[in-house]
Amino acid sequence: MKTICITALLSVMVVGMCGTALAGDTLENAKKKGVLIAGVSDSKPFFGYIDEKTHEFVGYDIDFARAIAGRLGVKLEFKSVTEESRIPELILGNIDIIAATLTNTSERAKLIDFSYIYFITGQKFLTEKGTVKNLADLEGKRIGTARGSTSEHNVKKALPKAIVLPFNDYLQAFSALRQGKLFAVTTDESILLTMLAQATDKERFEIPAIQISGEPYGLGIRKGDKKFLDFVNNTLLEMEKSGEVKRLFEKWFGPHTAAPMERTFVIAPEK
Ligand code: GLU
Repeated sequence: MKTICITALLSVMVVGMCGTALAGDTLENAKKKGVLIAGVSDSKPFFGYIDEKTHEFVGYDIDFARAIAGRLGVKLEFKSVTEESRIPELILGNIDIIAATLTNTSERAKLIDFSYIYFITGQKFLTEKGTVKNLADLEGKRIGTARGSTSEHNVKKALPKAIVLPFNDYLQAFSALRQGKLFAVTTDESILLTMLAQATDKERFEIPAIQISGEPYGLGIRKGDKKFLDFVNNTLLEMEKSGEVKRLFEKWFGPHTAAPMERTFVIAPEK
């Protein structure tokens, strides 16, 4: 089955069918096995990363995964995923949910289902101070991003002459920027802000006020897995109502944190 699915993943035409075939009932399966497996990032500060002292996964995305497993009454296991691997891993059944700064796009929604939006940001650029005033200053330049992200896709559209270099993750791209090998790094402002906040040489860099897309994050669920999707959405709404989302947001992105951001409220979309 796995070989068939991997082959199928290469074909956009059959990938949907493959996902459906493996969808199953995550809610029941997780309860039976006593474990839920979350696909998370290990290199995105404040969303999903490894705490240096405890060596545990921590971050805003991680806390949402913990809350969902907690309400389900099962153990939570983490599996590191990349931009490129997260959707295939979900479809193949290697993880049960994606909690990894995953933007809800109509292309991706053909392959997987998305929970309600729990975070909203937009794609921007990280550059050396004073080098970029408008989008035209970035045209034709070497720009780093993560392979398989919406950032990669959007920047190619916004700057057709730019040399877009895909890295395994954004921290690697940031290192290349530091070494002068790139002119800019591009991804969600939320991720750029957190990387910049952690940089010891942050005064060298800035995020110019140029936004090329909107990036609303949802949790990724296997297509057609309706019971689990409802469970996740209800959990998100309950967390908002009880003040848990506010508490988590304040913890990671509140005014007293290293990378304060604008709060997103979890709201059920109008039908
Ligand atoms: N949110 C965007 C995406 O889903 C970019 C950030 C990321 O790499 O996760 O592709």
